[in-house]
Amino acid sequence: MTDYDYDLFVVGAGSGGVRAARVAAELGATVAIGETDRMGGTCVNVGCIPKKLFVYGSHFAYDLDDARGYGWSTQPTFDWLTLKENKDREIVRLNGIYENLLARAGVEILRGRVRLLDAHRIEIAGVQRSAERILIATGGKAIVPDIPGREHALTSDAVFSLEALPRQMMVVGAGYVALELGSMCCALGVDVTVVHRGEEILRGFDHDLRCHLHAELEAKGMRILLETQVTELRKKGSAFEAELDSGDVLETDFPLFAVGREPNVEGLGLQELGVELGQRGGIVVDENYSSSVPSIHAVGDVIDHIQLTPVAVAEGMHFAHHFYGEGEHRIDYLSIPTAVFCQPELATVGLTEKEAWHRCQDVRVYKSVFTPLKLALSERKEQTIVKLVVDASDDRVLGCHMAGHGAAEIIQGLAVAIKAGATKAQFDATIGIHPTAAEEFVTLRS
Ligand code: NDP
Repeated sequence: MTDYDYDLFVVGAGSGGVRAARVAAELGATVAIGETDRMGGTCVNVGCIPKKLFVYGSHFAYDLDDARGYGWSTQPTFDWLTLKENKDREIVRLNGIYENLLARAGVEILRGRVRLLDAHRIEIAGVQRSAERILIATGGKAIVPDIPGREHALTSDAVFSLEALPRQMMVVGAGYVALELGSMCCALGVDVTVVHRGEEILRGFDHDLRCHLHAELEAKGMRILLETQVTELRKKGSAFEAELDSGDVLETDFPLFAVGREPNVEGLGLQELGVELGQRGGIVVDENYSSSVPSIHAVGDVIDHIQLTPVAVAEGMHFAHHFYGEGEHRIDYLSIPTAVFCQPELATVGLTEKEAWHRCQDVRVYKSVFTPLKLALSERKEQTIVKLVVDASDDRVLGCHMAGHGAAEIIQGLAVAIKAGATKAQFDATIGIHPTAAEEFVTLRS
């Protein structure tokens, strides 16, 4: 028994915070959680879940096209508001599930903005509470570059509350958010132009996949401007004008900036308490997610490490088990699988070919580009690429990469093989499931 109101006060009810609060409470801690907004954080409200629902919704544009080759006659019409309102309803349902999970675990939910008063005390909605430990799990927020007219810039949050689709969307950036929301809108008939400062989309992913995806996105009608930056944004009537450093001017009615996210630490009072922050404002933590102030901890996007929901959840689990349980749930940050849900989707686990060459003496690469059987009767010419990167010295598979239908579902399974240290010979000895795209991974010979 401590002299504090709670053993643990969690700031932020997103993926990491909710998991930490719930598990800590189930392990016997007295826990409260403070949240300004809806339960579930970015992932549930303006991220992974609504995005995936929109992606599913938009993909019917291609599925309906494909259906013709299979004998279906369709006269499709699309109503954005139906999709948006159904999505909203599902999110409200999920908000309720999160709230119930917390309540059932015995976590007290407090509404309002939290400010830390000292290493053990917080203030929320005018009341003060104390806790032996405080866990910051406030996530991140979209960045907008410092250019003239930045006040006109929209971020991904705005896409989820759109009442009508724009006519022309300019997407700045070519990372996860830019390509996912850009290709979703493109499938739904929006004229989309990606403006990217780099020499190719999706920096950090395997080069072959980046080039393959670039071509496929353009084939679907997305315009991609490389090595181009927006230097100014101006309002023009009900639309906007973006001045580009190429000298061109792009007219758009939806200037979407998807240039990364920064940790949400504003207003928490962390600096006043001496909590060390990194260069981009992320809370610096040790291997048990403790900050430079021992009673203050942090997990998820606010530590500015790997901004992925399952990582935040795993960090929340580790934190709860470390401080309130017996077992350790240490996270292996190597070989984290990830997917970009653009169309076609791209998924990857392990090293890119370039990374492998940096680490190994000799590397073998296996690759196949093919038309999936599903499209054999369709007029659509979308191709799938699969690629394996292998350490030639011990035959170990270091990386699996795929862009094409079902990539994320397939790579999730292969991530287990990579974790288990599978060799190329073991991939080869695995019998394929025929006919699938996944079987390509066990039949790659060149
Ligand atoms: P990303 O880091 O993925 O991409 C940012 C993009 O913006 C890059 O193309 C980058 O270019 C460009 N950029 C960065 N700064 C500037 C600038 N000042 N001017 C112009 N362009 C710039 O960020 P996102 O916002 O797309 O996503 C944030 C994070 O959220 C991701 O990193 C990911 O971890 C997570 N996420 C995961 C998803 C998933 O799992 N499916 C979905 C959505 C988000 P350059 O390459 O040159 O740096």
